[in-house]
Formats: sequence, C-alpha cells, structure tokens
Amino acid sequence: MSARPYRLEVLTSSPPPAPASEAKPPITLAELDGLDVTVLKGVGAKKAEKLRKNELNTVLDVITHYPRRYLDRTRQAKVDELELGEEATLLVRVLRTTTRKTRNGRPMVTSDVTDGTGHVSLTFFNQPWKANQLKEGTEVLVFGRLDEYRGKLQMSSPVVDPLGDRTGRIISVYPQSGKTGLTTKELANWAEEALRRCEPRTIADPVPEFLLSRFELVDRHQAMNGIHAPETMAASQTARDRLVFDELFRVQLALVLRKRHIESTAQGRSFDPSGEMLETLKASLGFELTKAQQRVVEEIRVDMARELPMHRLLQGDVGAGKTLVAVAAMLLAVESGHQAALMAPTEVLAEQHYLGVRELLSSITVADPTTLMGERELRVAVLTNRTTPTDRKRINAELADGSIDVIVGTHALIQDKVRFGSLGLAVVDEQHRFGVEQRAALRTKNEDGAVPDVLVMTATPIPRTAAMTVYGDLDVSVLDELPPGRTPIETSWVQTPFDEAEMWDTVRAEVAQGRQVYVVCPLIEESEKLEVSSAEDVFAQLQAVELPDLKLGLLHGRVPAADKELVMHQFRDGHLDVLVATTVIEVGVDVPNATVMVILDANRFGIAQLHQLRGRVGRGAAASKCFLQGEATTADGESRLEALVASTDGFELAEVDLELRGEGTIMGERQKGRNDLKLASLRRDKEWVQRARAAAIAVIGESEVEEFREEYPELAAEVEAMLGEEDAEFLMKG
Ligand code: ADP
Ligand code: MG
Repeated sequence: MSARPYRLEVLTSSPPPAPASEAKPPITLAELDGLDVTVLKGVGAKKAEKLRKNELNTVLDVITHYPRRYLDRTRQAKVDELELGEEATLLVRVLRTTTRKTRNGRPMVTSDVTDGTGHVSLTFFNQPWKANQLKEGTEVLVFGRLDEYRGKLQMSSPVVDPLGDRTGRIISVYPQSGKTGLTTKELANWAEEALRRCEPRTIADPVPEFLLSRFELVDRHQAMNGIHAPETMAASQTARDRLVFDELFRVQLALVLRKRHIESTAQGRSFDPSGEMLETLKASLGFELTKAQQRVVEEIRVDMARELPMHRLLQGDVGAGKTLVAVAAMLLAVESGHQAALMAPTEVLAEQHYLGVRELLSSITVADPTTLMGERELRVAVLTNRTTPTDRKRINAELADGSIDVIVGTHALIQDKVRFGSLGLAVVDEQHRFGVEQRAALRTKNEDGAVPDVLVMTATPIPRTAAMTVYGDLDVSVLDELPPGRTPIETSWVQTPFDEAEMWDTVRAEVAQGRQVYVVCPLIEESEKLEVSSAEDVFAQLQAVELPDLKLGLLHGRVPAADKELVMHQFRDGHLDVLVATTVIEVGVDVPNATVMVILDANRFGIAQLHQLRGRVGRGAAASKCFLQGEATTADGESRLEALVASTDGFELAEVDLELRGEGTIMGERQKGRNDLKLASLRRDKEWVQRARAAAIAVIGESEVEEFREEYPELAAEVEAMLGEEDAEFLMKG
C-alpha cells in the first residue's frame, strides 16, 4: 500500500477515537485527595508510614507539599566565600568517602566534597549508613557549620539532603526533609511522578477563564509543575502566584457564600427607629460624638433598617469609644420595640459595662401604654455566673416577657435557659475571646425564630487584609479616630536597675499629685497558680520596699468575686493609689484618673496584649506614662517592645504583630479547619488577598448559594473538598 501524504490523511479522515483514558475529564483535586500515597512508585509501607507522620496521606497532599525554598545552582553559597563558624547550605559533589573506626571503636564516616570553589571534609560519627548516601560522584545539599580542623575545612555532622540525578539549574528544597527521614530527592520525585501521571488528563481548573486572564495567572497544571520543578526562579514565582490565588480564592468564596447563606436563610428584623432616644442620649453626654462614631452609628443604623440580620464587626483602637457606639445601636433596637444584649468576656468587664451602660441610659424612657404616663424608665440588668439563683430566675422571666430592655452579661447569656421576648440586637465585646459557635448560639435566642442583628466589637485591631480573611463573612466598621483631648501616652522601656529605680520614683511622684497607677504582674501562661503566687510576691515586695507609703490593692484570677468588686470600687473611687494586678485588667477597666501603667516582665506579653494594657491609661486629660519593664530575651521580643515604644496606633502595631508572628495567631480559633493556606501568607500576599476577595465577589455576584452551585459546580465542589468542615458546611448542606 502506497503511503498517502500524512497531511491529507489528517484532513480527510475523521479523528481517531480517543483512548478511554484520554476521554476522562481532567482530574480534580478531590480525586487526587482520594488517592493514597502508596499509588506512587517507591512508596511502600515504610515510606507511606513516614509520609503519614508528616501528614502526607494522599497524592493531593504530596503535590501540595510545596518546596520551602529554592537553590539556584549558579548563585549558591560558595566555600571560598564562607567565614569560619558560619552556618550555610552548600551544594557539593562527593569526591571520596571513607569509613573507619575511631580509637574507641566508633564508626566514623569522612567524605571529601567540593563545590568547585573549595574542598570541605564532612565527618559523621556512629552513622555508618551515611557512606551510602555519600557515594563518589553524588550531588548533595549539606547544611552545617563550617569549621577548621588540622588546617582543613570541615563540617561535623551536617544535615545531608541527596539530590539524586536532578540536573535543573533550580533545586527545590522541601520543608523538614532532614529531620523526618524524607529527603528532598524523594519528595521532589514523588511530586513529579504524580504530576506526570496527571498529564494525560491534566489537573482540573475550575477557576473561570476571565479571572485567569485578569490576574495574568498560568494554568493550574503548569503552576504545579512550576512550583515543584521550576526552570527559572521567575517561573517558580509565577507558579506560586497562581497557587496562592487559588488558596485565597477558595477561602474568599467560602466566606462570601457564608455571608450570603446567613443572609438568605435568616429571618431578620427591620428596625425603624425615630432616633429620638439617640438624640436624648447625645444631649445627655458632656461631649459630641467623634466623626468616626457618627459615621459608624449611621452604618449600623442603615444595616439595622434592612430586613437582613446585621452581621458587623466594629474595630476600634483602645479608647476609641466603642461602648458608646454599642449603646447607640442598642437604643436603636429598644426604640423599635425590641431588646438588646451586650456580652462581655469576663465578669469584671460585664459588671463594669453594666454600670457604664446603666449610667448612659439613665435619662432614657421607653413607651409603655400600661403605665399611667404611657412610659417607663428603660431597664438595664446584668447576668453573670455570680447572679444568685433567685435573681437569675426573675431576670429570665423578665427577659422572656420583654420587661428588661437591655441585658449585660457574660457567657451566662448564651445558656440554654435564657430566652428573650424579642432580642433585636446582640453586641459581643472583645470578640477574640469568643468562638464562632458562641456567636451562633446568640442567634437562636428568640422564641419566634427571628435572628437578632449582631455587632461584634474588637479592640484588637487587625490589618485590613487579615480582617478580610479572618472576618470575611462580616461587614466591617472602623472607629479610626480617638475622642479629642487625649494626651498621648509616653512609653518607655525600662531595662536597667537604675531605670527601674527611676520608674518607681515616677510612680511615687504621680501618686503624690493625686494620680493612680496600675502595676501589671508577669504573665505566666503555663499556670494560673504560679501567676497568682507571683502576683502576691510582687504585691508584698512593692508594699515592703518600693512603695511602702502608698495604698496598694491586689487583683488576680483567684481573688474571690466579692473582694474583686471591692478592690475595683476602691480603686475607682480613689481609695487606692496603686492597683497591682494580673491581666484581669486587660480589658475594659476605665479609671480616667489612672495615669501610670507599669508592666513587669513586659517581654512575656504579646504586642496586642501590651497595647490593650497600655490603653487602660491615657483616658483622661492628664499626660500618661507607660513603663515596659524587663529585658527582651529574643530578637522578636526586642522588636515588640521597640514597636510599643515607637507607636500608640493599634492598627500600626497590628501590622508589626502580623509581620513578627505570622497569621497563625491572628487567625486563632477561626483558623481551625482552614488548613488550605499552605503557600499564601496574609502578610506577604496582601494584594492577592484583595484580588481574591474581589474575584469571589465578581464570581458570586448576587447569586444565592444554590445558584452559585448550579453555575459553578466544579468550583463549588472544590471549595467543599479543600476547606475544613466548618468553612464549607453550609455548602454541603445545599
Ligand atoms: P473603647 O471601648 O473603644 O476602648 P470606651 O468606649 O471605653 O473605648 O471609651 C473610652 C472613654 O472615652 C470613655 O471614658 C468614654 O466615655 C469616652 N468617650 C467616648 N466617646 C467620646 C467622645 N466622642 N468624646 C469624648 N469622650 C468620649
Ligand atoms: Mg471597651
């Protein structure tokens, strides 16, 4: 048979039927997650065990176990440029390896290696198997400290990571490869094998095309190849961008959808307050609301007027006046004929709020047709675990019949027995101490099933991009202005005994002028008992030595409630000069006459906590001082204390905190289940957070969860598969 021109054949014949395997659709991440690591070549029971120890159970885990960094062969640390004593990773070739016994009979492996600029001798004791890793001609990465021994450069027991036959210019280095018994070579090989085997089907990419082109993102399979085995450093960056986007996009989709879901399933209330009560409140204040307070109250009013339940976060620095905003919001609810609750994280704070709120609302009356005058005083009550059973019973009844307008309390408010006649607004103070579940519990408190509006207040500002990720299902209002007349707090870091003596001089001088002082005792996270005894020691020491003539009070977690109350009252009323306390005073305590804050062993506290504590002073017109005592024991500690000295702006400090600690701590409780952020960093990838947010909003548009699932089934499935249950639960229910 004569051969026909190939081109003709292509043009004339119908395309050959694709083999079955090619007909399969691209392989999804969920499918890859269903494949056990043992499907990979070279992964037997032993290796699988090691992989599992590293939480690498499936093929998806392996391909999303990304290199920690890359080594550019051409731009490596060179032996001839290293100083003695320096630690470094070297990329070397083995010249010769010998094993012998030392004088006391221990096996010793010596390997002469070179990187082209110099020779180093590697030595290992009691690890005879090293000889196998270091065969002549092998390329390895070694990490260790360069020393000199008998005139020759050497590294003693360095970490060795064999590269195998990797020839690329860029070498991917995987996390923890040394310690966990898995080498870079193995991890790279498995990832590459997995990706190669995906090749015929390619990896599914449900991200809409228009987003890929808008953000100039490469396709997913290419990105996977590019992150594991990049040809250039630039290629690894392009790959990373794509995968970072994917991670953040999934989180944002989940958050935006959750918000939609909450809005669409909840029957809220539309408030229609005349604003009269709010006017009465304003008139009773000795000051004007700040512009920021006015703006935020208006944002809240608009939200509350909508049929959908409000779900709003109020961020504001310490002392920005969040309480007043909360009270204004509660009035809007009460004026519309409903009740309001304010939930605080501690008893001290709940009681303090109760007194403050009651005071603020003392001039307000509520319409009541059953009374002679057609109105009555607005009623505020407090409920904590200390409320006696009799009172509790009465309060429960009055909450249920609606005769209490505003209730302030602790977690006691979300106990099962508490029911409301008509809870219109729940304000949750200091959100970071409450879990998501507790907020959810508040939403179910009404007999008629209506979901109350929720306002979450936090005094721990977090940077905008982090807020987008952590609180992405809430609307955010920011109080970015302090009330006028505050004098800035002057902060100093006290490191020497001399400075310390001066600090106590200042304390005595301020007290002599009629001012009051807080002394915060060292934080001992491991044990409340130790913390208490250390606080008692501090108290005794100050009373005996530094401040013998002053009136001191002591407050810590184990002071009985009644005494706590007494001490707080004495301090508030000026009968005590100095309040020695543990972090129980962290939040909410408001004594304008206190002008000095001393924090002992300040390096034990985090930035946010120090900022909170410092916020207890500087509340009046008099200039305030904050002393951070103690040496920094780490570089981070030093940066923290320096940041506090340099700035009193909570948002600025939050940025520093994020910089120093990474996002883990900020995500806190909410991070549980959000283990999808493997590459993305809220601090490095701020732009991508914003892009992902915009993309999620663009894709979801006005859709409800159901519609989104129909329109983007693969995307929805991927969000479900990749995010933890808590995040995607509502999607699965759909
Ligand atoms: P935050 O809870 O945000 O830390 P607070 O609500 O406790 O702040 O307010 C701090 C102090 O500022 C309180 O003593 C409060 O009465 C006062 N304050 C609030 N708003 C104003 C304002 N607009 N002008 C003057 N003082 C204000
Ligand atoms: Mg407050």
